Amino acid sequence: MTTLRTAAQICDHGLAPPERRTALDAIATRYAVALPPTLADLIDRNDPHDPIARQFVPDAAEIDHRSEELSDPIGDDVHSPVEGIVHRYPDRVLLKLTHICAVYCRFCFRREIVGSEKGKVLSTAALEAALDYIRAHSEIWEVILTGGDPLVLSVRRLRAVMKRLSEIDHVKVVRIHTRVPVAEPLRITPDLVRALKIRGIAVYVAVHVNHARELTALAHAACARMADAGLPLLAQSVLLKGVNDTPEAMANLMRALVECRIKPYYLHHGDLAPGTSHLRTEIATGQALMRSLRGRLSGLCQPAYVLDIPGGHGKSPVGPNYIERSGSNGGEHFVIEDFNGRRHQYPPV
Ligand code: SF4
Repeated sequence: MTTLRTAAQICDHGLAPPERRTALDAIATRYAVALPPTLADLIDRNDPHDPIARQFVPDAAEIDHRSEELSDPIGDDVHSPVEGIVHRYPDRVLLKLTHICAVYCRFCFRREIVGSEKGKVLSTAALEAALDYIRAHSEIWEVILTGGDPLVLSVRRLRAVMKRLSEIDHVKVVRIHTRVPVAEPLRITPDLVRALKIRGIAVYVAVHVNHARELTALAHAACARMADAGLPLLAQSVLLKGVNDTPEAMANLMRALVECRIKPYYLHHGDLAPGTSHLRTEIATGQALMRSLRGRLSGLCQPAYVLDIPGGHGKSPVGPNYIERSGSNGGEHFVIEDFNGRRHQYPPV
């Protein structure tokens, strides 16, 4: 099987019934579709609610655009001084090398851009202008390669970009956001891993994983190749209805990540991307899930639950609160809740 890219291929492989083909054609014309064999093989064809299918198989519900949904939900454009760069926070920038991904997630916050022919790969001239921008801004400590998925690029191109970044004195950290280790794990070759390891720069790989089943034996091996080479691994997950919005699914995901030596970093609340309301949860659901993890699972398994504020205002933590101020005079007093829900005075009285 090759990567499935059309409604016809999705139906022919038993991932959607033939009568849905016309509706899915309309979706595939609007938003990019790519489902590589590693992920397609994980889907249980007999389960109409399969959590892998919900993430990657186009759904007629995507036609339903809500008034609160935005074409640029996290406000990249207002912070883009030159093509390929998003400079939202003082000490770091996004460098978007490509709009291509190995798999297209149905909830993608950049779904209006990814997979399009326009800006498929940053041109040489645009890359030079982006590097000039980074070089000219000495406050930039970290560069985050994202897109699209930077690890779909050739090893030669990645090596060249990493080398150029390492030549900028004030850039100390490069972070790579990718879904390739789960979508196309065999792309994580020893050669690619060597290209990412650059002397003098700390390189982190943030892997996007939303369900424990995505961490197949091949994905484990791909992550091990990076971890064994000394690349620290982080996880970014998106809270999705019908995928990971139960305490059991979330706990299984977090434990599976840590077993793969991937530290859960962010749990993103679903962004207001067009046609994704069927996959978004309430914030209260995310807060309850975070409470279900706290205390019951190791501290290694606790991500930060965050919301990207629409309009480009950045991320804020939106997890549950465990502390309240108490009393009004005589110094600071607080009430702190423990993981069993019992409340305690601090300092103790
Ligand atoms: S891999 Fe990331 S950028 Fe690509 S479709 Fe999925 S969420 Fe969007």
